[in-house]
Amino acid sequence: MTKCQNFKNNLKLCNCTYEPCSRKGICCECISYHRQQNELPACYFSQKDEKIYNRTISFFKTKN
Ligand code: SF4
Repeated sequence: MTKCQNFKNNLKLCNCTYEPCSRKGICCECISYHRQQNELPACYFSQKDEKIYNRTISFFKTKN
């Protein structure tokens, strides 16, 4: 598999603290994964809320 050419820049911008994730820095996989779960990626949440690891759209709506 070809590595994403934006991988390093994506990592710099990524606020996700879930370290074991293999999708980190590969935003298309991150979005696709969370979309399938009816969720949003970490970057939709504040740094404080991201750490809760509740990525649901319903949680997002309570914050916005
Ligand atoms: S938001 Fe989800 S898929 Fe994306 S890097 Fe974090 S844990 Fe992985």
